Amino acid sequence: MSAAGMVAALTGRDDAGAASRIPSTPSPQPPGNPNWQELEKMLGPGSRLYLPKEPKFPSLAQPWNLRYEDRKPMGIVSCATAKDVKAALLWAQDNHMPLAARAGGHNYAGYSTTTGLLISVRPMSEVTALPGKRLRIAGGATNGDVAKAGAGKTNLYVPGGRCVGVGIAGLTLGGGLGFNDRKWGLTCDNLVETEVVLADGRIVRANGTDRPDLFWACRGGAGSNFGINTSFVYNAVDVSQTTATFFRLTFHPRDGVEVMKIVQEGLLARDHDNNLDIRIEFENPGTGRDNVNVAVLGQYLGDDSATRTKLGALLKMGPAEQSIEQLGFWAAQEKLSMVSEHETVASKSLVPAKWLPAETVKEIVEWTLRWEPHRAGNSGYVTLFAMGGKAGEPRPADTAFPHRGATFVIDVGTSWHPETKPEAVKHLLAQTRTIHGRLSKELNTSAAYVNFPDPDLTDWHTAYYGNNYSRLTQIKAEYDPHQVFRYDQGIPPRPSSGAE
Ligand SMILES: Cc1cc2nc3c(=O)[nH]c(=O)nc-3n(C[C@H](O)[C@H](O)[C@H](O)COP(=O)(O)OP(=O)(O)OC[C@H]3O[C@@H](n4cnc5c(N)ncnc54)[C@H](O)[C@@H]3O)c2cc1C
Repeated sequence: MSAAGMVAALTGRDDAGAASRIPSTPSPQPPGNPNWQELEKMLGPGSRLYLPKEPKFPSLAQPWNLRYEDRKPMGIVSCATAKDVKAALLWAQDNHMPLAARAGGHNYAGYSTTTGLLISVRPMSEVTALPGKRLRIAGGATNGDVAKAGAGKTNLYVPGGRCVGVGIAGLTLGGGLGFNDRKWGLTCDNLVETEVVLADGRIVRANGTDRPDLFWACRGGAGSNFGINTSFVYNAVDVSQTTATFFRLTFHPRDGVEVMKIVQEGLLARDHDNNLDIRIEFENPGTGRDNVNVAVLGQYLGDDSATRTKLGALLKMGPAEQSIEQLGFWAAQEKLSMVSEHETVASKSLVPAKWLPAETVKEIVEWTLRWEPHRAGNSGYVTLFAMGGKAGEPRPADTAFPHRGATFVIDVGTSWHPETKPEAVKHLLAQTRTIHGRLSKELNTSAAYVNFPDPDLTDWHTAYYGNNYSRLTQIKAEYDPHQVFRYDQGIPPRPSSGAE
């Protein structure tokens, strides 16, 4: 570890509490005797209440990030209709019980956990083609459900994320990055309408003309702030004739600076038709320096030969490994996708508005090489998701997602084996803070992506939402003035006439 890293490890904030599995949200304690029978009676066919004694309860309660798995709900209601979401929402309020909504359960910071009633919309997973190349996607569908429907049936595509288990709800409400956002925009940019169950139980539609303020907030204002979204309608693209070429090239870390120079100056800055999308991964897998590499992963919407020409400068460098494969559109998405089982993770993000200078890339390379895992199964990473193209076209205030001038979204983090000792976890977190702090300074930004939430971020209001924060608080005041939806970094209500 570098000297500066050691200083940060010794002097950084003590995250030992966060080291293992400590609930960070002091949710109000629920009352002693909730009337579960009443809730059960209200539910229609297909919906179900699960209480802790049931065999399925532990797996349904578990969030993706095991760091938050000790925050257990008192009950889980698995909803098959918006009507049942409404029943659960009103019942929780009548019984003075805290609540959280869950779709895919992949929130990094455990914001879909609660000590009260967990309202899962996961049974609602239908994907339906509508006239005019539109898709209606139910609120509990995942990236995997959407891809399956597209590849098997509709041939219609909405830009989504990489992980098959991520919910389309959480993804859309916070923005939605993927391997097609430079071509067709973020997931939220393609949204044309959503159905929302509001805190007072009304089931409403929000689109460009009906409740446009709520519609605006649902495109980047993050999950569980304004209601529970039970369906989404998107403009989609017919990809039946689209060819995509998958590529993954890996390089020795000493080549990282040159790789980034080519990616930034030679590829992204010149990709005027936005057919190229790229993710650069600097990862230390915790199995020794020899296994550290820099991976360039992505897709070109064109054939094999056009892709090889495009990537010529990288190929000339002689990648340690290379895989380039021309595929049909859906096969390429499958190749790019990943299945991620439960993990124990802490992540921080940055959204710079400029390219990374060579010196900064050098720091990332050195950090990756020196990163200390403490035990097998732990890893440290810096991943850069290319932005720009169509995702950069809207103005920052057009949707609640503000980062329209971004070059990359950078995800900095660590994943560790649950048995890692607390002292070691403390050091893993300190290493992440060190590189995050340096990148923030050198790239002159503290902007962050709300879908990679960081519970340690204090200035999250501006970091996630920029100048859109104030409007979001006004919309919150209109739709959830009593903060029925509440979590650590939840948007608070502030009437429009109120002072800053
Ligand atoms: C392995 C992995 C890979 C990822 N890859 C990408 C990626 O490629 N691109 C990208 O942009 N992001 C990615 N993410 C981040 C992801 O977009 C966010 O974690 C997203 O919020 C997850 O949505 P979810 O529905 O699965 O999560 P959940 O935890 O279910 O929900 C996320 C938030 O939304 C709320 N919520 C859930 N359902 C609803 C609803 N129906 N209505 C209102 N609020 C709701 C929850 O209470 C919570 O606050 C990834 C995350 C993981 C863990």
